[in-house]
Amino acid sequence: MRYRGRFAPSPTGALHFGSLVAAVGSWLVARHAGGDWLLRVEDIDPPREVPGAAGGILATLDAFGLHGDGPVVYQSQRQALYEAAFERLREAGQVFPCWCSRADLAPYGGLHRDGHCIAPPDPSRPPAWRLRSPDETVRWNDDLQGPQEENLREVAGDVVIRRVEGLWAYQLACVVDDADQGITHVVRGADLLDSTARQIHLQRLLDLPTPGYLHLPLVLDAEGRKLSKSAASLPVDPADPLPALRQALAWLGVAVDRGATMPDGLLATAQEAFKPAALRRSSLTPAPAL
Ligand code: GLU
Repeated sequence: MRYRGRFAPSPTGALHFGSLVAAVGSWLVARHAGGDWLLRVEDIDPPREVPGAAGGILATLDAFGLHGDGPVVYQSQRQALYEAAFERLREAGQVFPCWCSRADLAPYGGLHRDGHCIAPPDPSRPPAWRLRSPDETVRWNDDLQGPQEENLREVAGDVVIRRVEGLWAYQLACVVDDADQGITHVVRGADLLDSTARQIHLQRLLDLPTPGYLHLPLVLDAEGRKLSKSAASLPVDPADPLPALRQALAWLGVAVDRGATMPDGLLATAQEAFKPAALRRSSLTPAPAL
């Protein structure tokens, strides 16, 4: 089967260095495999969305020489697909309405378990919908991080799949889209490693194929904290892509060509030099010097 990878940013801010590493990493693995690399904007959470961020991220990727194959997919335009998947789960008795608040669940570590609601049903307001989480350990092999396992009940509990406002949870939309877009391999940051068991569980419930997974080490700041779009981390500069692109490649463990003067040229040589086995596995290993 032809390799199909993707980069799926949420438009919650400008592209920062941590996201650039995930974009470059997923691009390199896809191109190395002779496959496609698709772009998907995960704009299913309007309250967290920053106006203009989606366009800004796409323009920045373009300036960095990271061009997707085929049209960009926007999750905001795919409600019907998520609705259909949700209905299927509902018919199978895998989801249930829930009126519990965060405060209700606080004594239980914030987790909802065993389909057991603490708050009574309240027909006067809309419920959230949760996915039943079995006491089951999901095992999979991450192409970079090695064998993984996670007990769904212990780690995640009954997760919200449709929010009170009617918004879809990332896990559902991601699983539906990865399958619909024919994604064979997911390469993304290690902050999503613990979402993978939930996603595999959903794939099994919905009879969808499970892609390969590869989780890249997270870029940490000088204090060892995760760089994220919500934290104060500097956006990369689309007007001067080469320095950040060199740094991203070095971070990933890919030899960089000092002579390249354009992002496309730098990426082309990186693609030639790239060996998946040389990918850096942990944030704690020092990055090679530029
Ligand atoms: N939209 C997610 C993010 O920006 C990534 C989702 C994924 O790669 O599965 O963090």
